Amino acid sequence: MKQCKRCLYSENHPLNIIIDDEGICSGCHVHEEKNTLDWNARESKLRTLLESYRNTDGMSYDCIIPVSGGRDSYYIVHLIKNVYGMNPLLVSYNKHYNTHVGIRNYQYLKTVFDCDALQMVVQPQKVKKITLSTLKHFGSIYWHVLAGQTVFPVQTAVRFKIPLIIWGVHQGIDQVGMFSHTDEVEMTRRYRKEHDLMGYEAEDLLALDPTLTPNDVIQYVYPHDKEIEKVGVRGIYLGNYIPWDTKRQHEEMIEKYGYETITQQRTFDSYNDVDCVHYSGLHDLIKYQKFGYAKATDHVCREIRWGRLTREEGISLAKAFETRVPSDIMYLCEWLAISEEELWNYLKPFKRYTLTELASSADIPLPCRFTLTNSRAPNIQENGYVLLEKGYITLNKGTIDDIV
Ligand SMILES: [Zn+2]
Repeated sequence: MKQCKRCLYSENHPLNIIIDDEGICSGCHVHEEKNTLDWNARESKLRTLLESYRNTDGMSYDCIIPVSGGRDSYYIVHLIKNVYGMNPLLVSYNKHYNTHVGIRNYQYLKTVFDCDALQMVVQPQKVKKITLSTLKHFGSIYWHVLAGQTVFPVQTAVRFKIPLIIWGVHQGIDQVGMFSHTDEVEMTRRYRKEHDLMGYEAEDLLALDPTLTPNDVIQYVYPHDKEIEKVGVRGIYLGNYIPWDTKRQHEEMIEKYGYETITQQRTFDSYNDVDCVHYSGLHDLIKYQKFGYAKATDHVCREIRWGRLTREEGISLAKAFETRVPSDIMYLCEWLAISEEELWNYLKPFKRYTLTELASSADIPLPCRFTLTNSRAPNIQENGYVLLEKGYITLNKGTIDDIV
């Protein structure tokens, strides 16, 4: 299997990476554009685009920004609201596997940027039923999160007739160079289905699993093309207009607005997915079992491309983190009321790689520095899901004593 000589990606990347005759991958080539394109010209293109969506009478929002308590949310809102002076409506999907830090970041986001916000909270019993089904049928505990956070902004755009949705970076461009930045690729239903949702839209789940009812998946159904066309909904990616550097951007947000970070289980990046109990834990281990690499490799590749890590440093970092056994497995098992053995049995048909050597708990030296902020609530332990409006669940507890 060919591996890129510059970063660590191999041809097993699920987004179809291309490695050329010189041994350099398409992701590394497209990353070079960050140093070569005329980004001033690209940014003025963005300003012109945004201007055409500004409501002069103030009777509607100018755009929708999908947000969470983690990844790039602060930076996108900072740019759109404070730099470009737009009036966004923030929308978010309750990912259910919330951390306390994620909830705090989300609450402060609404406060420090002074924005209106809508959140979709799907009933936890439905989320549980769907997750058990996606786990059994295609080995994913994350389908509902990916489906929910990609559909709710589009539903909101249609419902409130706000045609412009603003996303951060396009993963297919940033990781594997699927397109050039100058292609100005926009959000599509097809990319969502094929890549975000592993080929299954909500309707496909019904066909796959007769125990699911239309009412179970109703909130995950993508609006009809005709409704989207009628409002003229489009979703743009800011990464096509400014040279996206998530590490630098998060550091600016820590400095300016007090974005909170946290030590993550299976990666050294303490910025991106701090809002989720499973993303850098069990979900990441499942990614490893399916593809033979996980999120630490994604973060290493990104840091190598920016010149903040050498390839050798990256190899040992990725290995150190990806051989860690995460501690959140029991939370999922308890929530789904299955044993750990049942969990691994469900995942077995999708498992192609096994962790052969497990990491020691010794501290790993980090050649590229990621800031760890002080907690705003140092007495609160991250030990389970924070279920919005449903109280608080911890192992062996399940009480509503500590409502958030
Ligand atoms: Zn590469």
